[in-house]
Amino acid sequence: MKRTAATPFLFCLLLLLGLNSVDSRAQQSGVLFTNVNIFDGESHSLHEGRNVLVVGNKIHTISRRAISVPEDVTVTRIDGDGRTLIPGLIDAHAHASLMSMPMQAAMIADPGYIHIANAVQAEKTLMRGFTTVRDASGPVFGLKRAIDDGLITGPRIYPAGAMISQTAGHGDFRMPHEVPRTAFSPLSHTETMGVSAIADGVDEVTRRVREQLMLGASHIKLAGGGGVSSVYDPLDAIQYTYEEIRAAVVAAENWGTYVMIHAYTPQAVQMAIKAGVKSIEHGQLLDEETVIMMAENDVWWSLQPFLDDEFSNPQTGVKRLKQIMVSQGTERAFQLAKKHNVKVAWGTDMLFNPAGNRNQGAHLAKMVKWFTPAELLVMATSNNAQILKLSGERNPYPGELGVVKEGAYADLLLVQGNPLQDIDLIRDPDSNFVVIMKNGKIHKNTIQ
Ligand SMILES: [Zn+2]
Repeated sequence: MKRTAATPFLFCLLLLLGLNSVDSRAQQSGVLFTNVNIFDGESHSLHEGRNVLVVGNKIHTISRRAISVPEDVTVTRIDGDGRTLIPGLIDAHAHASLMSMPMQAAMIADPGYIHIANAVQAEKTLMRGFTTVRDASGPVFGLKRAIDDGLITGPRIYPAGAMISQTAGHGDFRMPHEVPRTAFSPLSHTETMGVSAIADGVDEVTRRVREQLMLGASHIKLAGGGGVSSVYDPLDAIQYTYEEIRAAVVAAENWGTYVMIHAYTPQAVQMAIKAGVKSIEHGQLLDEETVIMMAENDVWWSLQPFLDDEFSNPQTGVKRLKQIMVSQGTERAFQLAKKHNVKVAWGTDMLFNPAGNRNQGAHLAKMVKWFTPAELLVMATSNNAQILKLSGERNPYPGELGVVKEGAYADLLLVQGNPLQDIDLIRDPDSNFVVIMKNGKIHKNTIQ
């Protein structure tokens, strides 16, 4: 070979390719589940008597026959013994950074303490079988990074970051003495913490949205109407103008992602749909006309089973009255969603009530009044995985989630019993989820 200026470069390239091929022969770790019945996340019946090989963080092989493990894979064997293997559960409306203490405590606690408490809750979330959450506002970027880096244990987090809210809106938690705000006023505590970002007018909304995208948001959360847990806004209040919502949608779409909006009423939701919002959070007070509009525009309805039951967040005074109004609308909302075949995402919206967090699975199981166990499990797995894909180019986990399929992420639960027959099994994950795996890693195994 004639020596040219490119020769050293070619030499390096060959060396690099050589090193890579050595690397691909390196020993990988895997897990072999034998004799499991699979709920694949989509089908309403089980695939019985299967073996599943996980290699690295993905499902490698699913077979009725014995799987011969490749030589370069070191496996941990788990005898399924006829138990049910299901995809990890997905909560499509979570607040991973607002669930470790009541709101009043969070307002005065040391930020470092709050984040450590959030880390504890993240581990508990995973141990309830929730391997992924779509966050609907709160300072989760650090929590997400710590989980992804393996510093702590928790679910995959799709982060929205701060909720963008107008003045007096659902994300305005300022004290009355902080009003009026001037150009020189300091930020309020919740804004400094990254819980919410107050923005009025097209320019401010655009800037606040772009800031969340800068921090790593996989989607944007907007407050588009009155809320239960907020102080100043009646439920019927319409928040933001069409132009402001449109500005947020354009900024999100320019970044390859989408806007979710908090709203309960027909007027607020109709305006949001016209402005290009892709996911309506709550909507318990919607009328039929608006529900049809959602179906026609292929908009997701992220609906929570708010009923006035033991799972409700404790509220008092005006907040309690608002809570009752919303819970009265829940029954009708699920019926309208079914009638018009709207894409429904299931989520809990658990926040500010740490004692209630253990009910995360029960929030799904209690919905048997509207859906079959199979429909519910599909909703909390493959169906919720579809709404995650709205994050498009900003999807932090771009592989397949919510399914037990070759090539999908290995987020798996081994269940003692058959949840398609007995959905109540998911109410007690401590007893009934005997193996919990996320990203190919075993986080719990009680059948060794
Ligand atoms: Zn929420």
